This record gives sequence, C-alpha cells and structure tokens, in this order.
Amino acid sequence: MSHQTECETMLPCPFCGGPPCAVVMNETTSRAVRDEDWGEDGVLFISAHVFCHECGARGEAFQEPIALPPELPVLKERAAKAWNDRNARHLGLYVASVRGA
Ligand SMILES: [Zn+2]
Repeated sequence: MSHQTECETMLPCPFCGGPPCAVVMNETTSRAVRDEDWGEDGVLFISAHVFCHECGARGEAFQEPIALPPELPVLKERAAKAWNDRNARHLGLYVASVRGA
C-alpha cells in the first residue's frame, strides 16, 4: 500500500481543503517504522495519526502495541476513519458558523 493510495481514501482537510496523509510512527524512536524495528520481543509501540499537508491540522492519534508489521495498516486505517469522522463533524460546524455570520 503506497502513501498515495492512503491519501486518496481520506476526505480533504476540513479547515483548508488540503490533502491529508496517514502517518505511523515508532513511539520508542519517534521515527517512521522500519521493518528492522521489530526486534527480539516482536512488539512495537506504534502511534498513527492523520495530518494535513497544507495547514498541519491533526486528526486523533491512536497508540497501540503492534506485534506484526501487517497490523500496521489496521492502525492507520483507524486513524484515517477518525479523520474522516472528525472531518464530517468539523465541516458541519464550519458551515454553520459561516451561515450564522
Ligand atoms: Zn488543512
């Protein structure tokens, strides 16, 4: 799964309409997750969140111990879903505030 594909599956930023991207980080190293990060114990503490490339708005972050690399997309997907939900909520608020002004 490429970053491109993940970005396309998400709604645009509710604040600026910019392109969001899902990010997964190794919480221990605060860096992008690499296959070699999975060491002897086989569990990594991973955080995933979605952020907007244009304005830096961030979606809800999810942190979880992940035992296998194939589980990474699951966490990413959860972050993407939270972004989309939040997006819909915030867009409604935004539209309401514009109309109210
Ligand atoms: Zn934005």
